[in-house]
Amino acid sequence: MAELHAEVWERCLNVIKDNINYQSFKTWFSPIKPVRLENNVLTIQVPSQFFYEWLEEHYIHLLKKTIKSELGISGRLEYSIVMDTSNNQTPPFTIKVPTSDKKAINNPSISMPIDLNKGNNKEIPNPFVIPGLKKIKVHSQLIDSYSFDNFIEGDCNRLARSAGFAVANNPGKTAFNPLFIYSPVGLGKTHLSHAIGIQVKNNFPDKTVLYVAAEQFINQFIDSVRNNTHNDFVHFYQMIDVLIIDDIQFMAGKEKTQDSFFHIFNHLHQKGKQIVLTSDRPPVELKGIEPRLLSRFKWGLAADLQVPDLDTRISILKKRIYNDGIEMPEEVIEYLACYVTTNIRELEGALISIMAQSSLNKKAITIELAQLMIEKYVKYNSREISIDYIQKIVCDYFNIPVDALNSKTRKREIVQARQLSMFFSKKHTKSSLASIGLHCGNKDHATVLHACKTVLNLIETDKQFKSYVDEIDKKIKV
Ligand code: ADP
Ligand code: MG
Repeated sequence: MAELHAEVWERCLNVIKDNINYQSFKTWFSPIKPVRLENNVLTIQVPSQFFYEWLEEHYIHLLKKTIKSELGISGRLEYSIVMDTSNNQTPPFTIKVPTSDKKAINNPSISMPIDLNKGNNKEIPNPFVIPGLKKIKVHSQLIDSYSFDNFIEGDCNRLARSAGFAVANNPGKTAFNPLFIYSPVGLGKTHLSHAIGIQVKNNFPDKTVLYVAAEQFINQFIDSVRNNTHNDFVHFYQMIDVLIIDDIQFMAGKEKTQDSFFHIFNHLHQKGKQIVLTSDRPPVELKGIEPRLLSRFKWGLAADLQVPDLDTRISILKKRIYNDGIEMPEEVIEYLACYVTTNIRELEGALISIMAQSSLNKKAITIELAQLMIEKYVKYNSREISIDYIQKIVCDYFNIPVDALNSKTRKREIVQARQLSMFFSKKHTKSSLASIGLHCGNKDHATVLHACKTVLNLIETDKQFKSYVDEIDKKIKV
């Protein structure tokens, strides 16, 4: 026979389920365990003090009504709260709390985890004191230069950028909550997430925005557990209007931190606050993150940042050069953008090292200097020849604009430049025929194959053509 307390609670759940939405039910009621029924007092166990506070604040009427209808007018509810013992020094324990009168809620006591008092505060915080929501000043930790103005738009980032922009103009009110931005390193996650924060601050100066690296969050959590200030930690984060956590993948395997973040996430989300997360991979590929968190990451929008195309890379460099007030010949900029292709941070690194070289040695910024630096810099970072770079060399050789490769014209020299670009891309890159075709005038793989055969034929039969090919090949391999 099922025990009575379980049965009673089961019936309560059925009523509650009908009165709130599914998501809230899953979040706040599924984790509750009925413990006992004695003297008409039903005791339920909740996973944390925060849980208890939340239930008391949001669902107490529903709970009381349900209990009374199941147990009669004298029926009462009592909580058993599992106290946080993540420091492992004490075994988990529970405390008993009758449903509160709400007096305690107005008792403000909150401190910021950002400058957590590291003193040895060994006092166990009084679980009956529920901190009030006092407005406090939060340092947003935003970097001014990581603005939307400085974030160049391209095909590679259009979705993420516009979602970020929408979020910044309407935090918590769009479907993009959380906004989850992912990409490999060096493609703009940190920049874009700051841009959102900055824009929110511009639009809504009163909103509390916080940018925090996941590692920082983790360390704060650990400190708070050590110092017995975990409640303050949670409450601090629950007061943020726009919470940005960068590189969330670092939470992998950190179950206690995830647990704490779970509660913070729920609170913020339910209150319509905005959450922005970044990661080096999409939610589905995140290992070591609890399923209940992962599923929440998918509630909003996951948008990726891709490798920028040549034009976007050139624009990024130009913006940077302009902001720094430097002059640089167009051909050097193009050279850099053609050569450093997979990582914007490296692109900027190459730019900076050229500028440093030129000013240290009082050398003019020339394409030769750029070549020299690239040699050193990019070799160091696993140099790779790209299709863009090949196209640039081929087109420069025949003195035609790179854009012409995409045109529909049948002009012989352009058709030939396109075929040569395809041929050299096959020879020098690991790209598939399909991808080469896509990059060279939006052709299919069969066209690329045909181009390669044509070039090989001509090399055999046409001495003049062969000398072109050899010269271009040398330039590519410089
Ligand atoms: P991630 O966080 O993905 O590793 P970052 O945000 O740190 O990448 O970006 C690396 C560098 O590239 C930063 O200096 C950033 O300003 C720059 N950057 C990235 N994307 C863009 C862009 N679309 N426009 C301008 N600069 C960019
Ligand atoms: Mg980053």
